[in-house]
Amino acid sequence: MRVIIAGAGIGGLSAALSLHAAGIGAIVFDSAASLRPLGVGINLMPHAVRELTELGLGAELEATGIPTAEMAHFDRHGNRIWGFASGRNIGYRWPQYSIHRGELQMILLAAARGRLGPDAVRTGTAFASFAESPAGVRVRVRDRATGTTSVLRGDVLVGADGLYSGVRAQLHPGEPPPRWGGIMMWRGMTEGAPFLTGRTVAVSGTNAALKFVAYPVSRPAERRGRALINWVAEALRPAGPTDRADWNRSGRVEDVLPWFADWKFGWLDVPALITGAPRILEYPMVDRDPLPSWGSGGSSGPGRVTLLGDAAHPMYPIGANGGSQAVVDARVLAWSLARAATPAEGLAAYEAARRETVNAIVLACRDMPADRLLAMVSTRAPDGFGRIEEVLSAAELAAFDQAYRATTLPDVAALNSRPSLTP
Ligand SMILES: Cc1cc2nc3c(=O)[nH]c(=O)nc-3n(C[C@H](O)[C@H](O)[C@H](O)COP(=O)(O)OP(=O)(O)OC[C@H]3O[C@@H](n4cnc5c(N)ncnc54)[C@H](O)[C@@H]3O)c2cc1C
Repeated sequence: MRVIIAGAGIGGLSAALSLHAAGIGAIVFDSAASLRPLGVGINLMPHAVRELTELGLGAELEATGIPTAEMAHFDRHGNRIWGFASGRNIGYRWPQYSIHRGELQMILLAAARGRLGPDAVRTGTAFASFAESPAGVRVRVRDRATGTTSVLRGDVLVGADGLYSGVRAQLHPGEPPPRWGGIMMWRGMTEGAPFLTGRTVAVSGTNAALKFVAYPVSRPAERRGRALINWVAEALRPAGPTDRADWNRSGRVEDVLPWFADWKFGWLDVPALITGAPRILEYPMVDRDPLPSWGSGGSSGPGRVTLLGDAAHPMYPIGANGGSQAVVDARVLAWSLARAATPAEGLAAYEAARRETVNAIVLACRDMPADRLLAMVSTRAPDGFGRIEEVLSAAELAAFDQAYRATTLPDVAALNSRPSLTP
């Protein structure tokens, strides 16, 4: 079987590696002229770290990312509201990593080229269209340098081509543009002194007004006694973006700094982080409505095409799960194809295992139940507080804990005991 993957992001490269590990041939193409370590930090949750570890990448992750110790919430004055132990600290057999998205992509790319061959990942090649039949799938691609088109032939096409997926657009013509949730995000990375545990994801404020998220992402910096601090500043804005969301669009310090100018906590200087970043990126918090199907199986076609990662289920980064769910998709896809008698049967099993599960995460991230409790704190104690128990009841604090876990994490025992997805 030969699988063609459109998109060499976190999901597409994880799919190539997973298919290879399952004994299935794969090639990947990406529209970018070259794959560079773009983006800032992301969190890889234990369920994704498990999969990448089973793909033999545990040592690379450990050398690069920060094993997150805790996720802690604060009000906009830096007073601690609630914290959750993370990764191994909460009993998972695998850590959670805070890691530079581009470095993660480069780890996956090097492994894919090393294992599948130097030509397995082709750049400068954009998806144009597909045609499928019971015999196979033909994928028309365009060389971005010359404008010429050519056809790739395979048994399966996986659309891992991100938020503006062309594969998704062909499967679901007429879909509206991504849906904006009212929040603009500015992101950057600034070197500074380690804060709190040195491995804390710190979330201050609330999406009902302003929120600032900061966490260290670099083990090499940590070894030098420093922290490469990834930060995300989020502000509720009245007017939405006027053009396409672009992960690589530059933002301006004057657009973000005024909102956070007095956010100086004893343990973190937010204005210094914003002004100290070599580059600021601006991105609107967007997602898409969950899809009723990811492919063309059943009565609607031969079932040789599917979607994966952001192409299938873009979600708000609020649950720290976009990259992680793409990795899990990849592993389930390979496992399903390896066990099926036909490509269509494999893709149907993949979709059955993943679509509703991930759609629920998309909707949970929209609902932001934990954020409602943060907003409650800012309403009840706008000028700060001494003890959180004076602001939230024991039942409300327990609800916070539950809301966070339900949005973001699988059950510890279930993940620890589930059989491997290596076929
Ligand atoms: C440049 C970039 C920077 C990002 N930075 C961040 C970040 O800082 N923080 C964060 O939380 N998330 C970031 N993301 C998104 C994040 O990687 C995803 O939400 C998540 O990892 C799921 O990965 P994915 O592989 O599904 O999608 P993506 O990582 O978005 O990968 C999609 C890939 O498809 C390629 N592609 C798009 N259109 C076509 C086409 N027509 N033909 C062929 N290939 C195509 C893209 O070049 C890209 O490599 C970034 C994405 C990109 C592309």
